[in-house]
Amino acid sequence: CGIIGIVGKASVAERLVESLKRLEYRGYDSAGVAGVVGGKVERRRAKGKIVALEEVLAAEPLTATTGIGHTRWATHGAPNVANAHPHSAGRVTLVHNGIIENFAELKAELAAAGRVFESDTDTEVIAHLIDAELATGLAPLEAFKATLDRLAGAYALAVLIEGAENLVLGARRGSPLVVGEGQGEMFLGSDALAVGPFTNRVIYLDEGDYVALDHDSARIFDASGAAVTRPVRVVPTSA
Ligand code: GLU
Repeated sequence: CGIIGIVGKASVAERLVESLKRLEYRGYDSAGVAGVVGGKVERRRAKGKIVALEEVLAAEPLTATTGIGHTRWATHGAPNVANAHPHSAGRVTLVHNGIIENFAELKAELAAAGRVFESDTDTEVIAHLIDAELATGLAPLEAFKATLDRLAGAYALAVLIEGAENLVLGARRGSPLVVGEGQGEMFLGSDALAVGPFTNRVIYLDEGDYVALDHDSARIFDASGAAVTRPVRVVPTSA
């Protein structure tokens, strides 16, 4: 339902939560964050309000400087911790807004290949698909593109990959996604409000676009895989 991603210079957990609070107006049943800590991705998730996620984070702080966050409005699978985003498979951890219409076929194929699922969501197949592409030797961006080409339905995505420390991948089709440009920091949000506390320089991705964010750049590609530029808009500050 709501997405935030940050490639940051300083700790991101508090900022991820702040952004998720800005997205509460959309409604949600659970929330979660993930970040890269010492080369490994760690997750914190909770059912219910964001205050419940804050309690989990207070008990088990997340010291990452690159991370993603999500508020979920369940479409596939009950609202519980196991189905809360971020979802992980192997080296891949991601959050998703929307519905993957061919998830049942993809899940059957992945299960037949020996992959084990830990949620009832449509989302989890995306993490497994990217991880399977990585396992064939593809680079993160190539594995992401190969996966996007297999998905039917609607998505906005924010993705972390173990071994690619300062990288957040994003993509949108049928669900909105924006990039926020900071100073040595880059942001991804399901709308401009999500990145509003951090920057007023926003790029609205086009339908079918995908993007690779690092500290200093947002490399944007259209659905055909061609590198493109999209205009930067200066929006009213909401901090
Ligand atoms: N379809 C996904 C799920 O049920 C994402 C729902 C959302 O957009 O929050 O987990």
